[in-house]
Amino acid sequence: MTPPPTTDRADIAVLGAGAAGLMAAIAAGREAARRGRALRIVALDGARTLGAKILVAGGGRCNVTHHAVTEQAYAGGSRNTIRRVLRGFDVPETVGFFRDLGVDLKREDTGKLFPTTDSARTVLDALLRAAREARVELRHPARVARVERAGDAFLLAGEWGDLHADRLVLATGGKALPKTGSDGAGYAFARALGHSITDRVFPALVPLVLDPACPLRALAGLTRPMRIELRAGTGKRLLEFTNSTLCTHFGLSGPAVMDISRHFLDARHHDPAAHLVACFLPEASREALERDLLALGPRRVRTWARALLPERLAEALAEAAGVPPETTGANLKKEARRALLDALLAFPLPVTADRGFTHAEVTAGGVPLDEIDPRTMASRRCPGLFLCGEILDADGRIGGFNFQWAWASGHLAGVAAATPVPP
Ligand SMILES: Cc1cc2nc3c(=O)[nH]c(=O)nc-3n(C[C@H](O)[C@H](O)[C@H](O)COP(=O)(O)OP(=O)(O)OC[C@H]3O[C@@H](n4cnc5c(N)ncnc54)[C@H](O)[C@@H]3O)c2cc1C
Repeated sequence: MTPPPTTDRADIAVLGAGAAGLMAAIAAGREAARRGRALRIVALDGARTLGAKILVAGGGRCNVTHHAVTEQAYAGGSRNTIRRVLRGFDVPETVGFFRDLGVDLKREDTGKLFPTTDSARTVLDALLRAAREARVELRHPARVARVERAGDAFLLAGEWGDLHADRLVLATGGKALPKTGSDGAGYAFARALGHSITDRVFPALVPLVLDPACPLRALAGLTRPMRIELRAGTGKRLLEFTNSTLCTHFGLSGPAVMDISRHFLDARHHDPAAHLVACFLPEASREALERDLLALGPRRVRTWARALLPERLAEALAEAAGVPPETTGANLKKEARRALLDALLAFPLPVTADRGFTHAEVTAGGVPLDEIDPRTMASRRCPGLFLCGEILDADGRIGGFNFQWAWASGHLAGVAAATPVPP
């Protein structure tokens, strides 16, 4: 039974209490206190347990940020806007914010910053504590089904009742990992309030599915550093990522593949012949390898390849190149030598699909960045509305960049939402 409507009112409603929403609510509460304003701030979330995405992040360790965050690590809307948002609340401020909450961060060799406890729980607990200390009312599970303009205010409604708010921070995330509650519902709310959504909203940081006939699928469990290159249909190299890559029963996963996935999906949308190739020996030069093969003499291709790569992979690649691993160097014809080098250094990856939002870490696309003011995250379409986090058209590489976007945009939105409009 739907409960009767109430006249519950808040000064600020934060819709979505993930990374961006929690940060926005905390920043709003602190800013209100700093200004001596007694504001009622209510953060609503549909999830039974808050912060599910923070808890699973970084393999349960939560990669909170990266020591060197620049707009270059992001795709989506204007890099200039992304830079301005990131500068509004930068990495030293993020580190200081968490330090003040009792969460020290440590930097790993990759540049990623994790809590010294190696536990995402420390991060989530600190955020929830800070929200309570900032006098934020956290209301959950409170799934919002409807958001509309009500005069100068906003009306949020769901099975739990309804809430009027003078200002609204929309922090509903994107569509990645929908079981956590981020299922794209926020796009309809943004539209209802006058915003548009990019033509395409698609998975980013997502594993890729390879054709069942691809020999890499038979190597499930194998992990190696690989260079994954994106090439246009013309063969032109567009982009590359070198990092650990994991062969799985469906295809490929791991940071290099995840990082290139959104660029590949985007390129293929515009150029159906765009494709990926893998280099299994990112440190080696083709010339040096060719010299070695020419000097192989009576030794076998198998022995040579085994010294460079795991045996299963070496044999699969030789087979894919049509070179029996028992072939000796002396019997290796020029064509076969070239085919072998191609298989090792530029192996075409027959990608048939991505693994979808269920397995994606982030969403590409969303509310266009030119519809917000990057100094305040205020909507340029709807007075009193602020947007932050993954609902916006910005997605970062693996490494803490997506959380940094959530912290920075959330902080700016929260401070601005608690700031009175100048007369
Ligand atoms: C497996 C995984 C690992 C990741 N690891 C990292 C990492 O280590 N480092 C990193 O930087 N990034 C990581 N990310 C990405 C990062 O988690 C997200 O970019 C970030 O959490 C986005 O924050 P957000 O607050 O914008 O959205 P979300 O965290 O998605 O939060 C949105 C919230 O809104 C709520 N909501 C949505 N619709 C409604 C509604 N209608 N009513 C009420 N509530 C609603 C949802 O329940 C949710 O709690 C990872 C993502 C995944 C999936």
